[in-house]
Amino acid sequence: MSEQIIALSARMSQIKPSPTLAVNAKAKEMKAAGADILNFSVGEPDFPTPDHVCEAGKLAIDEKFTRYTAVPGILELRQAIAQRYKDDHGWEYDADQIQVSCGGKHGLYNMAQALFGPGDEVLIPTPFWVSYPPIITLTGATPVLVPLDEKDDFDLTADNLQKFITPKTKGIILNSPSNPTGAVFSAQALRTVADMALAKGWVVITDDIYDTIVYGEAPLPHILDIAPELKEQTIISSGVSKSFAMTGWRIGYSLGPKHVIAAMNKIQSQSTSNPSSIAQRAALAAVAGPQDFPAIMKDSFLPRRDYIISALTSIPGLTCVVPNGAFYVFPNFSAYYGKSYDGKVIEGSVDMSAYLLEKSFMATVPGAAFGADAFVRFSFAASMADIKEGMKRLKEALAKLQ
Ligand SMILES: *Cc1c(COP(=O)(O)O)cnc(C)c1O
Repeated sequence: MSEQIIALSARMSQIKPSPTLAVNAKAKEMKAAGADILNFSVGEPDFPTPDHVCEAGKLAIDEKFTRYTAVPGILELRQAIAQRYKDDHGWEYDADQIQVSCGGKHGLYNMAQALFGPGDEVLIPTPFWVSYPPIITLTGATPVLVPLDEKDDFDLTADNLQKFITPKTKGIILNSPSNPTGAVFSAQALRTVADMALAKGWVVITDDIYDTIVYGEAPLPHILDIAPELKEQTIISSGVSKSFAMTGWRIGYSLGPKHVIAAMNKIQSQSTSNPSSIAQRAALAAVAGPQDFPAIMKDSFLPRRDYIISALTSIPGLTCVVPNGAFYVFPNFSAYYGKSYDGKVIEGSVDMSAYLLEKSFMATVPGAAFGADAFVRFSFAASMADIKEGMKRLKEALAKLQ
């Protein structure tokens, strides 16, 4: 063992390892040893990237479109993104109000660096997507977790927001449909946020990465439709990772006020420079081309969602909010906490995920990773056969607990 001579920066002590790592490492180990693992832990569609998008990427290589591009992304792509938002929502953005980055997560990182710092507080409705708190913490600002109630279908209410507002509050991060709950914020909740943001001058970050995967008839409520006057205070984060099954290509985008995008471009210019030229050309084919792919995926997810919800809610003690978007369910397992197997007590979601992996060979993500220990996340971007087998194993596993 070599001695550690170099010390890590102080900020590393503020970032905790993800509680999902233990389960993931174990799942990989078991799979490598030949176990028949059902994987419900993945955070991406189980579809390949559409052919016309892959072809555009190949063509970019053949044409040797393989050099640096403009830092915020090629103009054609930013113009195509602007056109998409105009066609789909009627919102007007200029190309200099758009940044293309190395995935949606990178856009959020640039945004946080451009907007927040020590002394600022940022409201994060909880359950949250795993990366929001560390992205805020790394700026020196403080993430303030606003718990959402399963009984409210994980909707935001004025009451739960009010308790966490201080003079230091500088912004809020919205994610609708949500990862991990699949919940969609109601128009009323968004009106509440908009009124507070307008009164107090907050920045509203809206992570719309799942906005093409929405179930049901009603259009997805959006804060900019509800309060168009909030546009100068709102930044949209999105990308092609989920809507076009392009997680590996690493293309996301942000739309917002020009001075904020300019600041984000400064950060991007001094860190990653432009996102991959090849991936940008593929993303251009996705954004400017036919838009039927997200709907095809959605139609295929719907029966899987309906099956997994009916299976979960037929198990005694489990409750589960029906997700209105994305491809996750977030059942509440707390009725089983305190029970045991092999003399081990299941204290919370990390133990529950470990039990399901060890005894039933199914990988899930403990709710603790999303700031909500009562729950366990299952992705239903898995085959119907795996979902059916998984629900059978789950029922048996829970019945065995004492
Ligand atoms: C997947 C995801 C993103 C973006 O992911 P990238 O792979 O970085 O594009 C952003 N927000 C949420 C909530 C997500 O689940």
